[in-house]
Amino acid sequence: KILVIGSLNLDMTVQVDHTPVVGETILSNKMEMNAGGKGANQACALGKLGADVIMLGAVGRDMYADIQMDSLNKAGVDTTRVIVKDEVSTGIALITVNRDGDNSIIVVSGANATLSKQDIDDNLDVIKESDIVIFQLEVPLETVCYAAGIAKKMGKMVILDPAPVPKNFPDELYHHVDIIKPNETELGMLTGVDNPEEHLEKAAACLRKKGVKDVIVTLGEKGVYLDDKISGAERIPAMKVQAVDTTAAGDSFTAALAIMLAEGKGLREAAIFANYVSAIVVTRKGAQSSIPTLEEVKRYIEQ
Ligand code: ADP
Repeated sequence: KILVIGSLNLDMTVQVDHTPVVGETILSNKMEMNAGGKGANQACALGKLGADVIMLGAVGRDMYADIQMDSLNKAGVDTTRVIVKDEVSTGIALITVNRDGDNSIIVVSGANATLSKQDIDDNLDVIKESDIVIFQLEVPLETVCYAAGIAKKMGKMVILDPAPVPKNFPDELYHHVDIIKPNETELGMLTGVDNPEEHLEKAAACLRKKGVKDVIVTLGEKGVYLDDKISGAERIPAMKVQAVDTTAAGDSFTAALAIMLAEGKGLREAAIFANYVSAIVVTRKGAQSSIPTLEEVKRYIEQ
């Protein structure tokens, strides 16, 4: 069983001609509402890829939560531990995309910001029942540290997707993490290493020194770098595909990695599988809707 502890957002994406400047009002004729949030995206990917997955997070009591729950339930995610909080709204991301494809995003954390240590204490049984626990950083850092510490003590495999990287990343968290999966930018922010793509070994060593067991870095179209305790450092190239929208590429990568690890596969094999999954995701528009099912991935691999 895989447990995802993290955020659920509703993405409202508005197409605009240009990004409005201060004081400007502009008109748009297209808005889409989609379930998003790193935690929910990862849980959704796990569900679609056939994992036994449960999500722990928080939403408000509103229509945004209904859209989110619907998407997760359809993907086969157990949502019984998504806590509904009356006093706050569901997390919302307001996204404008201009004609050049550049976006500006405002995230209203809403219920995500209220996920507390108490909420973790109330759900210790699901941590206990899980084999792997996955975190990202769109819910309070304090809660992530607390829950990761508990999961680690219970002997669970802890995976951290360190996004977004906070200003005050606590060293303590590294000690609770088995596998950390930053992208290139996040790796640079965590380690202070400039141009991390040129210095992957140095940056990865920096994270391992802080207590992480394995480091896996996604490099977009340049693929993946992994620094595994057993097989050592290696780069795996990305699949050659026509990318149209990279939303949820990283989230589905994390999910795919966890599925293979849950099946007892090594990090290298897991990364190769995740590379296939994310390659499909980037060829489709959308976040959760772009994530393939296990059958689709199998067909793609056999091609
Ligand atoms: P994030 O979305 O977190 O920034 P990346 O952009 O590094 O993550 O992408 C995650 C993974 O998605 C990559 O390691 C790769 O497997 C796949 N991927 C991303 N962009 C492309 C691309 N243009 N072509 C093929 N695969 C891609």
